[in-house]
Amino acid sequence: MATLEVIEPATERVLEKVPRGGVEEIDAAVAAARSALPAWRDLSPSDRAQALMRLAAALEARLEELALLEARNAGKPIGDARGEMAMVVDVFRYYAGAPERLLGDTIPVAGGQAFTVREPLGVVGLITPWNFPLTIAAWKLGPALAAGNTVVLKPAELTPLTALRFADIALEAGLPEGVVNVVAGPGSVCGARLVEHPDVAKIAFTGSTEVGRSIAAGAARTIKRVTLELGGKSANVVFADADLEAAAQAAPLAVFGNAGQDCCARSRILVEHSALDRFMEALEEAVEALRVGDPLDESTQMGPLISAARRDAVASYVPAGAPVAIRGSAPDGPGYWFAPTVLCPVAPDDRAVREEIFGPVAAVVPFRGEAEAVALANDTIYGLSGSVWTRDGAKALRVARGIEAGVLSINSNTSVRVSTPFGGFKQSGYGRELGPHALDAYTEVKSIFYATG
Ligand code: NAD
Repeated sequence: MATLEVIEPATERVLEKVPRGGVEEIDAAVAAARSALPAWRDLSPSDRAQALMRLAAALEARLEELALLEARNAGKPIGDARGEMAMVVDVFRYYAGAPERLLGDTIPVAGGQAFTVREPLGVVGLITPWNFPLTIAAWKLGPALAAGNTVVLKPAELTPLTALRFADIALEAGLPEGVVNVVAGPGSVCGARLVEHPDVAKIAFTGSTEVGRSIAAGAARTIKRVTLELGGKSANVVFADADLEAAAQAAPLAVFGNAGQDCCARSRILVEHSALDRFMEALEEAVEALRVGDPLDESTQMGPLISAARRDAVASYVPAGAPVAIRGSAPDGPGYWFAPTVLCPVAPDDRAVREEIFGPVAAVVPFRGEAEAVALANDTIYGLSGSVWTRDGAKALRVARGIEAGVLSINSNTSVRVSTPFGGFKQSGYGRELGPHALDAYTEVKSIFYATG
């Protein structure tokens, strides 16, 4: 079988070679998932819950090993990787509560009793990106498995290692063979086959808006259910009456965390004009203090980019003559490094403001007043997340409600919690992951009427 060379972005060396799947492997995985479906679906809810609890415990026991693998393969700081693996464990614990809580409704009707039940979709295809490899897979695996579906996971070809380990851990934890199937391979072959496969009921996708569009179009042929978590260009709106020091301290990691390769990156920093100088001064200090370097060094806050191609793409947003206001540090030598960079001031129609850069480049855009802040925040095809910084609570709520995005935070830059829904407006996708809402995306509602005469 052909192999896939997996590269370590901090060293540019081959980390592991894994089997490279193709159409045949996807078809075999779908067949395995299909034959495992009846037993998994019909398992009693408490037995399915217990299986997910055992899986969470097995993952927790391997947390350090998984974190190290993720840190090396994705180039992310080891501390961040540990946090991500802890979230993976939490996701399975949270959704272990779901099998016994998949409730239906009773509905008053004439002539009998009407009620609803929730049923699994069947075999679900999961297609995931390289930026948070196992975490984003877990957001899909948890609710899909809890609801009684079986799955075929196609991780990104750059970062398949933790997903492949996950498949082994699932078996070790006692999940029946065929319930979780993982095939590493190219998206245009393996992902595309999952999308067209007649025995796959649904595709849950996280990745670029461009690929998401092609998946939605391809899935239309078999009327597959689709959820899409796509790109973003989130706004971090800082009003002059905010705690500017706190906003400036928090802003760098909101863009440069995961080296900017984060769909929620608050890469448009909108700052009220009257506070611009004070904010930029504090921001400069914070960016210069960022520790960029070896992902395995415990003190590192930002690692390399995922690939040379990504580094070239990011560099194109900082051409000669770009208004570079702040530039942090980055190591020399091997590794796909790019120094954290802040552009200021940037016009709202500049490419750096309009396009998802997916790298450590922030664009600062000054604004005057609340109405202009909301208009600028909404001047994008995306709508994933965003932040509002102000001490005026009513204004914070007005602006949070005014921004067309799925996940907003006030005086904070966080977006993701296991128990709250996550997903986009506009071209950032549709459907919600995490929280109770994710279960809607992995179940059908069946309505049953029982005539009572
Ligand atoms: P990508 O779209 O290139 O790839 C994502 C996955 O799709 C990979 O597994 C890839 O192999 C597969 N794929 C590629 N072509 C395919 C095809 N024709 N058919 C089926 N599958 C195919 O994205 P990426 O570069 O891995 O990730 C970066 C993007 O992901 C960014 O745009 C980012 O914003 C987005 N993202 C979104 C979220 C979110 O939750 N909204 C989270 C993380 C990343």
